[in-house]
Amino acid sequence: MSDIRVRFAPSPTGELHVGSARTALFNFLFARACGGKFILRVDDTDQERSRPEYVDALFNSLHWLGLEWDEGPYYQSQRLPEYGREAARLLAEKKAYHCYCTPDELAAGRAEARKAGKPYLYPGRCRTLPPEEERAFQAEGRPQVVRLLTPDQGETVVVDEIRGEVRFDNSTLDDFIIVKSNGLPTYNFASVVDDEQMRISHVIRAEEHLSNTPRQQLCALLLGYRLPRYVHVPMILAPDRSKLSKRHGATAVEEFRVQGYLPEAILNYIALLGWSPGEEEIIDLAEMIRTFSLDRINKTAAVYDVAKLTWMNGHYLREASLERIAGLAAPFFEAAGLLRAPLAGADLSYLERVVEAVRDRVKTLAELAEASAYFYRAPESYDEKGEQKHFQKEGAAGLLRLAAERLRGLNPFSLESAESAYRALSEELGIPAARLIHPTRLALSGRTMGPGLFEIMVLLGREKTVRRLEEAARYIEGKGW
Ligand code: GLU
Repeated sequence: MSDIRVRFAPSPTGELHVGSARTALFNFLFARACGGKFILRVDDTDQERSRPEYVDALFNSLHWLGLEWDEGPYYQSQRLPEYGREAARLLAEKKAYHCYCTPDELAAGRAEARKAGKPYLYPGRCRTLPPEEERAFQAEGRPQVVRLLTPDQGETVVVDEIRGEVRFDNSTLDDFIIVKSNGLPTYNFASVVDDEQMRISHVIRAEEHLSNTPRQQLCALLLGYRLPRYVHVPMILAPDRSKLSKRHGATAVEEFRVQGYLPEAILNYIALLGWSPGEEEIIDLAEMIRTFSLDRINKTAAVYDVAKLTWMNGHYLREASLERIAGLAAPFFEAAGLLRAPLAGADLSYLERVVEAVRDRVKTLAELAEASAYFYRAPESYDEKGEQKHFQKEGAAGLLRLAAERLRGLNPFSLESAESAYRALSEELGIPAARLIHPTRLALSGRTMGPGLFEIMVLLGREKTVRRLEEAARYIEGKGW
């Protein structure tokens, strides 16, 4: 048994973001690659921002991605006595102290620092509070917090598995709060206690947390804990290299699910945000587990590119089994008003055939439904440019009627027979086959592009094909072109 134990510790303050999903994936891959354990912990001590519906959303997204955890979920909100015990120990050992500074006093200190153009650091005023003053504050019921007594001198050296030694001057780290006035632990404190008690061997998290690490390390050492190994995975930037935000399009896993992305495409894409497995870009979860190692994680920021994710999605849409894609596509077809689930028998096999015909041309399940609409209902309109090019030509209506006539008598009505009927007709008329094919495609689908024309005909069947050709002819005649 490996003693590798890693955790994904989301704060339930919103949907699972691609950045957090990547953190979850790297932890998952590392655990799987080493035969270790992947633990899920919910960092929910921020009462104002954490919401139960976000916890559900996080779990749903993790399940959907297939990132199943081995232990947990643990909830920090259910572990408050543990933090209380460890804070009391630090207080008793004089490694932490109560601070009674009022919000006004702290604000004044902050304003001063701002004026001086310096970062604010708590000056340690309550470090040496005379006992009678402390008793007086307690008697008046003044709110208090617990601060960690940190060294003023020397440096804290964080050893990051990716970056090597990262040095922090202790004079830049103040006596930070470990227990808030409402009695709840801060993230830096709770995280350290949990990582110890959950025997976490590697803390793998986003680079944004690197500035928290010296604080957590100091805290762990004061508590007498063994340090975990730290792994900070590079930032994910927007294409313009700014911080990734809502304005750069979808960033939540759920948004991608709703738009018809496949979980394997998301996993493949986010795996490459900061990890270089090798030449091959298309890599499935099993292969990721086989090849994952921390030394292939990059130092430099990754750039987020939805177009690439979309391209990958198109790839997986083509590669996956027809059965699976049809099953996943059905709700999208239903949402587009094309069919009603649950599907069975002929309806299901029809859907599979439609998916087979269309999936090479689209990149998401939503696009798949949109591009398949005419297999379920006659086109409501015709592509405008297509009309100009193919319907407004001399004799277009007549050609469509002739074609309809030929198809009506065809027996059997198959790919081959429909194609030879069209070839024969164009030869008889002495016109290029394209003169028949283009207006036919527009008549059947309303569009100028799509799957093979005869494939469309066979899928629609003789009756609908003939009807749509006649409808288009009537439409053209009505316009008087
Ligand atoms: N709750 C923190 C976050 O979501 C966890 C960071 C960590 O992994 O320590 O960013």
